[in-house]
Amino acid sequence: MTDCIFCNIAGNTTPADIVYSDTEVVAFTDINPQAPTHVVIIPRKHIASLSQAAPDDATLLGKLLTTVQMLAGALGIDESGYRLVVNNGDDGGQTVPHIHVHLLGGRPMAWPPG
Ligand code: 5GP
Ligand code: ZN
Repeated sequence: MTDCIFCNIAGNTTPADIVYSDTEVVAFTDINPQAPTHVVIIPRKHIASLSQAAPDDATLLGKLLTTVQMLAGALGIDESGYRLVVNNGDDGGQTVPHIHVHLLGGRPMAWPPG
């Protein structure tokens, strides 16, 4: 166990509804879904936030997006559309300090966001 809930989900020490995982990334259903489809995609590597990512993380950050693309197809929301959210820091509304992408779909999204 670590102090990081998302590291613990990636390490299978905290249960989650994992929809995809490989050696680099893990995707799981958000415990408090904000849309009919709400999946959180994380790197296994602990990076606290986008602000904390290093230039060497560029390939891994790209992997998060290609994973979203794959999952959107697998979950059947690629044609209807979807939204990605990356909250960063306090004003961004980030509550879990392990970088993650929210994949939201299954309903129309409003703009501007709150
Ligand atoms: P943030 O607010 O940091 O952008 O997003 C964190 C997300 O993680 C929230 O949407 C919250 O519902 C979700 N979350 C927090 N703890 C857990 C957990 O233990 N399991 C799962 N599946 N999701 C969690
Ligand atoms: Zn972590």
